[in-house]
Amino acid sequence: STHPSPDPAAGAAVKAADRAHVFHSWSAQGLIDPLAIAGADGSYFWDYDGNRYLDFSCQLVNTNIGHQHPKVVAAIQEQAAKMCTIAPGFAVDARSEAARLVAERTPGDLDKIFFTNGGAEAVENAVRMARLHTGRSKVLSAYRSYHGATAAAINLTGDPRRWPSDTASAGVVHFWAPFLYRSPFHAENEAQECERALRHLEDTIAYEGPAGIAAIILETIPGTAGIMVPPPGYLAGVREICDRYGIVFILDEVMAGFGRTGHWFAADHFGVTPDLLTFAKGVNSGYVPLGGVAISAEIAATFDQRPYPGGLTYSGHPLACASAVATINAMAEEGIVENAAAIGENVIGPALKEIAERHPSVGEVRGLGVFWALDLVKNKETREPLVPYNASGAANQPMADFAAACKRGGLWPFVNMNRTHVVPPCTVTESEAKEGLAILDEALGAADAHTV
Ligand code: PLP
Repeated sequence: STHPSPDPAAGAAVKAADRAHVFHSWSAQGLIDPLAIAGADGSYFWDYDGNRYLDFSCQLVNTNIGHQHPKVVAAIQEQAAKMCTIAPGFAVDARSEAARLVAERTPGDLDKIFFTNGGAEAVENAVRMARLHTGRSKVLSAYRSYHGATAAAINLTGDPRRWPSDTASAGVVHFWAPFLYRSPFHAENEAQECERALRHLEDTIAYEGPAGIAAIILETIPGTAGIMVPPPGYLAGVREICDRYGIVFILDEVMAGFGRTGHWFAADHFGVTPDLLTFAKGVNSGYVPLGGVAISAEIAATFDQRPYPGGLTYSGHPLACASAVATINAMAEEGIVENAAAIGENVIGPALKEIAERHPSVGEVRGLGVFWALDLVKNKETREPLVPYNASGAANQPMADFAAACKRGGLWPFVNMNRTHVVPPCTVTESEAKEGLAILDEALGAADAHTV
């Protein structure tokens, strides 16, 4: 709606200053060519040359409510006019209301909210709470996971991004979570995968020593690592194991929470309540940095008479909290979570399954809501990934070709290793979803060209 006329000269100036002075995350500074962005609205953003992209990545899977939702923009403006900032120790309306709205939606008795500035800090604090609550130090975390880039969070992460930071694992032990398509347990069906995964977790606990384990952390549905919906019974099984050994169960809902799966929280699909739940991203769609930990009554009580040793200057920042209040209210008023569920079930899921049948490069389609992955392969029989694990440069050419084809068609894809994730906003309309799926369908021809 506010798509401006192209202005390549302005774009060039933005780009020149960026290349001179901005040090980008997760990047070789000399090898990147960031696109200069002029604006964004709803499901789209655009560059200075007049190219508009349908955002099937939601940036980093965080703009659940789309770009520039008018109610959220207005709430930030109103809060800015009233009071931009105040220290975390005061009680203020935006923070109180944000905590109330989050607590109302989290499962079970997760009724106390510790606010942070993002997901990694939420994970850091959840782990600290679990260690202080139990007096134990080890934390068990899954391979094929992502928990953030700060000290504890990167060590918990079960993907190659951990490797360069892995000098001090700080009591972290990794285990395998279920994933039938590439089963670590060589299982043949979901029930077998679930049973073997739970037995593997119990064995890991036995050999690590249950009395030393503070917490088990899992993404409810692992996101960045491939959107692997756990088999029925797995999370309930982990809950039961945690109860048996007095281990704190942390569910990381930074990516899966706030509507992404078609429920407020992914845990709602499984009827499981963790002791601690981390959130960020969708809580306010990232309009202002915000994350947090939802805390059970039992763990909160640990810190009733004893100070919790942790906090940040900007914990529960008023601008961030005001944007969360407006986001959650808009999602409720406009049926945005229900929209994510319906579009996933009626439009995206069926279309992706058809696409998978037509393309030799699509090995598996999995997901729900607006949270889908296409596992791309060289060959459907062998399931060999389209690019090798952790490939870069020339070895990653098939995925680079696919991404370039999407962008030429006007679609901004999420690409990670041999996968593309279909993660549009929860507000995506049926016609936008169909537009994006058609571009994706065509772009997959570039991946098919690398199959054998
Ligand atoms: N946990 C999960 C499940 C995530 O997906 C992410 C980010 O992608 C994080 C934690 C880290 O969040 P942040 O980047 O806001 O620190």
